[in-house]
Amino acid sequence: MEQSKNNIVSMSYNDMFSHINNLSFSKKVSFIFIDSKFNSDLMKLKIPNIISNFFVLSNNKVDLHIPHLYCYKKINKKILKLTYNTSIIVSIKINDSDDDNSIKNIIKSLISLIKIQKNNIILYNINSVNTKYYNYILNSIIALQFNSKREQYEYIYDTICDELDETFSQNNYCDFKNDKCIANREKVSTKDIMGCCYSFKYTALGNITDRHLCKYLNNKKCSTKCLTCKLYTCKYLKDKGIIFKAKDNILLNCFFNKKQLRVLSSNYFISKEKIIDKLLENDHLPYIIYYIMNKEYIPVDL
Ligand code: SF4
Ligand code: SF4
Repeated sequence: MEQSKNNIVSMSYNDMFSHINNLSFSKKVSFIFIDSKFNSDLMKLKIPNIISNFFVLSNNKVDLHIPHLYCYKKINKKILKLTYNTSIIVSIKINDSDDDNSIKNIIKSLISLIKIQKNNIILYNINSVNTKYYNYILNSIIALQFNSKREQYEYIYDTICDELDETFSQNNYCDFKNDKCIANREKVSTKDIMGCCYSFKYTALGNITDRHLCKYLNNKKCSTKCLTCKLYTCKYLKDKGIIFKAKDNILLNCFFNKKQLRVLSSNYFISKEKIIDKLLENDHLPYIIYYIMNKEYIPVDL
């Protein structure tokens, strides 16, 4: 299902206010600014009269003494209550000082807001010169428009698979030549051809057995999208500082809990469909028991 980006724009505050003046509304309008550097200059602009409530999510203390302007650090029950049955406009501004943690906070606020108010939000405005952060926010908003968890998870999953593919390809980390990766050629891998695409099993004693070319390797290419494999780097690459962890990825960290991040980190040689099924499993085991029972965990260099 292709999600629409029709209500997602990228405009300055001034252009956006002019744009709003040209729209017609049947309900009151609430405006939510998500801007870590929100300041009073903005209120000097010509703000459309139709906007009845302003909410500012910012780490800065905003003390403007403007009626109906509320400032908080994140989405809370009061915002959800006051925006109930209004048309909502959400404007997100990413500033130079924003870092991975502030982007995570923004996405978590969007998750809380969109979960409850999805049908009332009529416009999203995203402003960012940082393309990576812009894409994370955009993809979060798109993912949150899906009605089913499976579709939402698949969207996030595919987005990160594509991101990892692009990163590996752009940097040529594995440097394949004649079917041999750099670790194969340097003779620091278990096999000397086809990189590390060899699946195996553990015996009851924890030894590795039945190592063979992965069944998903077709015509020298992976025929499924295994995110765990895509996050993997061998010792040779890790020693060069090339390491990817599910928990360090902004989108994965925001959309998946600790158990789900574990699923994403420990299911090598498994199809995308099976991994998504596992992400959707509704088990209530405490994380530590889940961790101990998680048989797919592979603590060795492949
Ligand atoms: S991760 Fe290491 S072993 Fe696997 S393909 Fe890349 S360089 Fe080769
Ligand atoms: S599932 Fe993993 S090991 Fe198998 S072909 Fe794909 S990337 Fe290689």
